[in-house]
Amino acid sequence: MTCQASNELEQLVLQARPYSSQGKLATYIPALEKANPSHLSVAIFHLDGTCTYAGDYKQRFSLQSISKVLSLAYVLARIGDEEVFQRVGMEPTGDPFNSIAKLETTKPSKPLNPMINAGALVVTSLIPGADLKEQWEDFLDFIRTLTGNPEIAYNKELQESEFSTSYLNRALCFFMKQHGIINGEVEKIMELYTKQCSIEMNCLELAQLGAVFANNGRNPVSGEQIIPVQIARICKTFMVTCGMYNASGEFAMKVGIPAKSGVSGGILGVIPNRCGIGVFSPALDEKGNSLAGWKLLEFMNEKYNFSIF
Ligand code: GLU
Repeated sequence: MTCQASNELEQLVLQARPYSSQGKLATYIPALEKANPSHLSVAIFHLDGTCTYAGDYKQRFSLQSISKVLSLAYVLARIGDEEVFQRVGMEPTGDPFNSIAKLETTKPSKPLNPMINAGALVVTSLIPGADLKEQWEDFLDFIRTLTGNPEIAYNKELQESEFSTSYLNRALCFFMKQHGIINGEVEKIMELYTKQCSIEMNCLELAQLGAVFANNGRNPVSGEQIIPVQIARICKTFMVTCGMYNASGEFAMKVGIPAKSGVSGGILGVIPNRCGIGVFSPALDEKGNSLAGWKLLEFMNEKYNFSIF
């Protein structure tokens, strides 16, 4: 794999960086407050195996909600779409990612999609394995295969910080357990979920993982089919309709690519049959999307014209 610094991308980073001062770090997970709000990094991983990067590209960050795409791909591949979509829907909500509102008004109380917290918690509850250790290790192996880095791990401090403060996510779990949408022990689901959210990587690894989705589930370097074509398609579709929280419509309009963001400030972008993109900048807008990261993707779209629409 050849990765190179790109002057062109660096110019776009320079243009987008000032926007980071308008955003705010997520603070409801206490350890996320330690991030440097002025960080901005980007990498593009092309399907010929080459990649380019700019900004603070070595900086590692946690996946947070980006992991929802990966747990979905994994669970769909392991247990099949019928079982998954019995418990979680396919529609955008227009609500904030951690909202409980629609669970109460939708009958049955099945979350509208797997990109909101309620839906992602259902997906995590479906990760197969004899016990929590096996569930976690097999899932982590999948992430390591996707990034090509066997050292990928989770940030324990961050995981513990979220695990000890996740009252709302526990509430979502208990609500859904009451309604028979999730089975199993809530504390175990929460441990697995906070671990998957705390998995750390840099923008290069995120871009490489995105390239697998761009390449219809096939690793562009090794040629290995890691995710079945149909499942990669389902994930990209959810990324377009629900990937950027309740700003997914605006993002589709302004950037126009499958993408998923997380409250750490990471954004995974996928340009089908072209490349994967990893972006990171931790200062967020009011809906939870990276402010400078979003701006950077807008500038990139103006320059490279990558909207799929
Ligand atoms: N771990 C975070 C939570 O569940 C992820 C949220 C996000 O990135 O949107 O609150």
